[in-house]
Amino acid sequence: MAQGVQDEVMMNTALIKELADVAKDAALLQGVLMRIQETPNSSEVVTYAPFTLFPTPVPKAVFLQALAVQTHYNTLVDMISQDPDFLQEALASTIAVDDFTARLFRIHQQILKEGRSQSIVLGLNRSDYMLDQRDDGSSSLKQIEINTFAASFGGLSSRTPDIHRHILKVAGHLEVSQHILDNNPAAGLARAVAKAWELYGSEKAIVMFLVEESQRNIFDQRYIESELWKRNIPTKRKRFDDVSKTGSLDQDKRLFVDGQEVAVVYFRNGYMPQNYSSEQTWDARLLMERSMAVKCPDISTHLAGTKKVQQVLARPGVLEKFFPDQPQVVEQIRATFAGLYTLDMGPEGDKTVAMALAAPEGFVLKPQREGGGNNIYGSEICQVLQEVKGSAERMAYILMDKIRPVPVQNYLLRRDAPLQISNCLSELGVFGVYVRQGKDMVMNDCVGHLLRTKSSEHSDGGVAAGVAVLDNPLLV
Ligand code: ADP
Ligand code: MG
Repeated sequence: MAQGVQDEVMMNTALIKELADVAKDAALLQGVLMRIQETPNSSEVVTYAPFTLFPTPVPKAVFLQALAVQTHYNTLVDMISQDPDFLQEALASTIAVDDFTARLFRIHQQILKEGRSQSIVLGLNRSDYMLDQRDDGSSSLKQIEINTFAASFGGLSSRTPDIHRHILKVAGHLEVSQHILDNNPAAGLARAVAKAWELYGSEKAIVMFLVEESQRNIFDQRYIESELWKRNIPTKRKRFDDVSKTGSLDQDKRLFVDGQEVAVVYFRNGYMPQNYSSEQTWDARLLMERSMAVKCPDISTHLAGTKKVQQVLARPGVLEKFFPDQPQVVEQIRATFAGLYTLDMGPEGDKTVAMALAAPEGFVLKPQREGGGNNIYGSEICQVLQEVKGSAERMAYILMDKIRPVPVQNYLLRRDAPLQISNCLSELGVFGVYVRQGKDMVMNDCVGHLLRTKSSEHSDGGVAAGVAVLDNPLLV
């Protein structure tokens, strides 16, 4: 259906130009915004966040499958974070060679030794998928990764449905426009943060957004801040530097920053090595982890989101340990796993190396990094593996089957980019939230979705990296 609509208009240059102009104004009207590269610290002049001219067809069954498995993924992430033995074993090889993960792990161990000072846990996750093309033409849902730290675009994706509805109507497709789904992850994410704040139980205490020095994607975060203020929950944006300079714990380990008590620390910064520019930054992270503030994520949930943990989960029997009496849940989660392979030293890792060298086009080589642009593809896999295959260095990576979605034609609208048709691949994200207090799961919900689309020329990179753009699924 969607493809049909697009075929008619796809090649009509004058119409496309007109629709693109309408679309950009619609994005501005909806507040789908980003700061510009020239002035990342100022909102005086802003532009639309990049997006597709048309929504992308997604099979309904696969979409519903992704929503249905989300609460189980929430439970799984939470259980992993509460299982120090599992984390220790899963990450042992990685931390031997990857300094960043090792540093995070040391914080985790110190917190375990001292005892956790807060029993309220807040998880805001996004599980990302691509639709792998099967030989029979159908597609199967395969997880790319789960993000437990700073999963973004819940704000902006709450405003994109109306843009595509509008474009379709202007293009003369009122009926199709009615099939664009509502989406409001911002409200769901805020609901979970609000719950954690309430349970913390101090009206004056703030929700602290721990953010980067400069943030082009600030409006995405502002949507969540705004949802919290609607509930009369005070939020403040702070940087690692603010915490270093003014942060302290009182006798009860309550966290104070700039003289204000912090109920919830919502990390939107701190997932990349370069975010920790000095020892003071690491000290600030440790201070927050030791505090009574609810951390989203806490250090163990951060570690639960590593790519190494993802690979270990795919080993036979591991999911069964987490869900011993729920074979149907195990089945539901495992159905979304792509092939994942260890590069640990030993015969199994040797086999992985040989397999990748023999057919590099079939795989993606992944280090323990987040934020896009770090993965290795094609012939470069051979270069890297030839270098590291004989040493423990190879344990910093995991290998994954390459997912091959069906390309779909679309126009990617981005400031200053030429209006041209592209072969595109999409990635579906599903937002999940949970709040636990001690042993009680008080909230565990799936709160919305995100579709991101990029030109098939690029194998990697997200919206922030300037590669992918925002999109909406059109269920078919
Ligand atoms: P990051 O933490 O940097 O976001 P991801 O694992 O999400 O790392 O990979 C980044 C991008 O690389 C994805 O958004 C996707 O476009 C591409 N990618 C990752 N894994 C695969 C895979 N197995 N098959 C195909 N593309 C992949
Ligand atoms: Mg990713």
